[in-house]
This record gives sequence, C-alpha cells and structure tokens, in this order.
Amino acid sequence: MKIGFIGLGNMGGPMAANLVKAGHEVTGFDLSAPMPEGVAKAASAAAAAQGAEVVFTMLPNGAILRAVAVEVIPAMPKGAVLCDCSTVDVESARAVAEQAVAAGLAALDAPVSGGVGGATAGTLTFMVGGPDAAFATVQPLFDIMGQKAVHCGASGAGQAAKICNNMILGVTMIATCEAFALADKLGLDRSRMFDVVSTSSGYSWTMNAYCPAPGVGPTSPADNDYKPGFAAELMLKDLRLSQQAAEAADADTPMGQLAAALYATFVEAEDGRGKDFSAMLPRLAARHRG
Ligand code: NAD
Repeated sequence: MKIGFIGLGNMGGPMAANLVKAGHEVTGFDLSAPMPEGVAKAASAAAAAQGAEVVFTMLPNGAILRAVAVEVIPAMPKGAVLCDCSTVDVESARAVAEQAVAAGLAALDAPVSGGVGGATAGTLTFMVGGPDAAFATVQPLFDIMGQKAVHCGASGAGQAAKICNNMILGVTMIATCEAFALADKLGLDRSRMFDVVSTSSGYSWTMNAYCPAPGVGPTSPADNDYKPGFAAELMLKDLRLSQQAAEAADADTPMGQLAAALYATFVEAEDGRGKDFSAMLPRLAARHRG
C-alpha cells in the first residue's frame, strides 16, 4: 500500500519502520525527528499525504492533531483513510473524523498500548473507533504493527477505551505502590509481599508484570533506576484526558481524579518528570502520613 506517516517520534518511527519492512511504500513527515530507514521524506504533512491510501498520524496531542488534519485532509485522495494513532481527547478525535468524512474520506481513531517496546517489536494493541469498512482496510497494517486490534465502536470509541484503560492503570499503580510503602513500615519483606499479592486477590498488571519494587518480580523499570518505560508525565497526560472526558460526560470518577492530582504533584511540583510512572513507590515510601 501507499502510506503517509506523520509524526515519526519515539512511537511513530518504529511503527513506520515496521510497515516498510513488510514491503509497504511509506512517505513520512516530522518537524524534527529523522526518517527511519526506507521511509521517504516529504517536505510537508500535505506532501506526505498526497496519493496515500492510508495516512497515519502519531502526534503529541489533540491540538496538534487538529492542526495537522486541516493540512492533510485536502491533500488525500477521496476514499482514503486517515488513521490517528496518537492518544488525544475524544472530542478532537470526533472533530477530525467529521472533517475527514465531509471531505469524502474515512477516519479511524486507533490509539495504542504497548509503549516504545511494543512499537519496535510490532506487538502493539490498537483500540479502534470508526466505520467497519475503514477498519477492514487498515487491519492488515495493524497486524504488522501490532498483535491485536480491537474494533471498539464508532468514532471516538478507541480513545474512550484507551483513557479508561489508562485510568485503571494509573489508579492501580498508586494502589500497588502505597501498599508496598505500608508493607515497608509494617516490617514486611517486599519479596514476600510480592509472593502473596501476585497470587492473591490484590494481583494486577502493575504488581505481576510491572512490579514497582526493584529486585522483586519480573524485570521492570524499577530495576533500571526507574528510567521509563512509561514516563510519569505520559501517565499524567492520560489521566488528565480521562478526567476531561469524565467531566464532559458527567461521569463520577473519584479515584481517577485523585490519581490525576497525585501524578500532577509528582511531575510538576516534585522530581517525577522523566521517571517511570512506577517511581511513585520511592516517592510514597519516603513520606509520612501527616
Ligand atoms: P514523540 O514526542 O516522541 O513523537 C511525536 C512526534 O511528533 C515528534 O517527533 C514531533 O516532532 C512530531 N510532531 C509534532 N508536531 C508535528 C507536526 N505539526 N507535524 C509533524 N510532526 C510533528 O511522542 P511519542 O512517545 O512518539 O508519542 C506519540 C503519541 O503516542 C502521543 O500521543 C502519546 O501519548 C502516545 N503514546 C505514547 C506511548 C509511549 O510510551 N511513548 C505509549 C502509548 C501512546
């Protein structure tokens, strides 16, 4: 397929590289990131989109996505699919999809889970919103870049699934970290705590697969001095998106709200920026109740 790819940063770069390796013709555009091997460099976002059957975007946020969409949509041939894989607010995803449809295109919101490791290995999970036909067109490409693509519903449903998942992740990470911090103060060995919880009703992905305690459980960013992994500021971004969506939809999400506030303090008022989101454990372990 002839593919346009806009935003070739930490995630977009390896995703585009995997499409090239599978034999697709990829033209890319990024304001600063270098093109991966085999990706033709375009002079603008519109130039990358010209003549493409599918255009992927992998950008920092909804405002940038909206600005890029205005440029890209008129350049795409009728019937082509605009597929945004960034994590953005549900409203931006729906607004861009409406503009694409009005211009005779189809649009998908297809945020991912799996991080840079998953993007490089081609094992991402895609959560996809948009029409059936567009999903069917892009599915072979999702299969190259990922291990699973779930069609979640109409436009915006992919972003909705992503922020609900990551709200659970943020809340669960904090719960796991505060339980370790309490266990420390009760004199309970962290390895014993892991052995019990990972096989008891407190188990979770954050405990079992991504344990925030160094030297305990499988290897995780905690074993690498809390280098990300998944950075605390990206967790904060997703928690804020979940709270923005909760407010717009009038949904009561008290734990999500608390998690967003705690990560905001950690990243913006303390030393959390640039650390993995599991570095919440040393932060909590160093503190006292009052
Ligand atoms: P990144 O900052 O490494 O990449 C974004 C790229 O977009 C940059 O290279 C930047 O130069 C480019 N860009 C910005 N504005 C542009 C414009 N107007 N035109 C063209 N290019 C432009 O970020 P990333 O880690 O690759 O994340 C991308 C998206 O994926 C984000 O929405 C993020 O929330 C989401 N995400 C990231 C991870 C992760 O672990 N990094 C995991 C899941 C989802």
